[in-house]
Amino acid sequence: MISYKLEKLAKDFEKASPREVLAWASATYGDKLAIVTSFQVTGIATLHMLQSIAPRTTVLTLDTGLLFPETQDLIDDLEQRFDLNLWRVKPRQTPKQQARDYGDRLWERNPDRCCHIRKTIPLRDALAGFDAWVTGLRRDQSPERAATPILSRDRRNGLIKLAHFANWSEAQVWGYIRENDLPANQLHAMGYASIGCWTCTKAKTEGGDLRSGRWSKRAKTECGIHVAPLAEAIHG
Ligand code: SF4
Repeated sequence: MISYKLEKLAKDFEKASPREVLAWASATYGDKLAIVTSFQVTGIATLHMLQSIAPRTTVLTLDTGLLFPETQDLIDDLEQRFDLNLWRVKPRQTPKQQARDYGDRLWERNPDRCCHIRKTIPLRDALAGFDAWVTGLRRDQSPERAATPILSRDRRNGLIKLAHFANWSEAQVWGYIRENDLPANQLHAMGYASIGCWTCTKAKTEGGDLRSGRWSKRAKTECGIHVAPLAEAIHG
């Protein structure tokens, strides 16, 4: 019965606006809802919408200890501007401790393990106690994200996962940022489209998708927090 309800909602949300989906999530899950953002443009638009829906909603951001200074500045700015209820989620080990146990520059030798230590495990721990989380995934970001559902079931953590901007384009999100006079990461002006750790992020490649600067020249395309079995679409 519950599954059927979620299937119907997932279908209905295809015609809803991101704000409507976010408002539904807030009304449904209240303080058991977490917004997870790396402060990229979709996340910034989400935080702006949240101000008129439920401004004290918990916001989680993964502070890997390897973020660009420009990203840190943006997070500080938005935390203050929106008076965010922000949790900076950190890995159990500092980069130095990780180097001691796993060797220097693990991200070059085994980026999957590095992301697991610095992103997947910390997020899993931080999400314990929540019922639903919101993410900024969009279908236009990469071929791997082309089928992103707006509503899905995160079976690993037993949570509902919402990607309320899934069917928006990069241009629509930037339109929202400009219309509302919101700040964005200064690195965008230098050709960066998707921004993660400084160790693994470059400017977008010519002709590449929006995430082509992430782990460029490697087969890796995702850090792991958005891939199965962590998230599973309602429709399989
Ligand atoms: S993006 Fe790179 S440095 Fe950051 S956690 Fe993943 S592999 Fe490690």
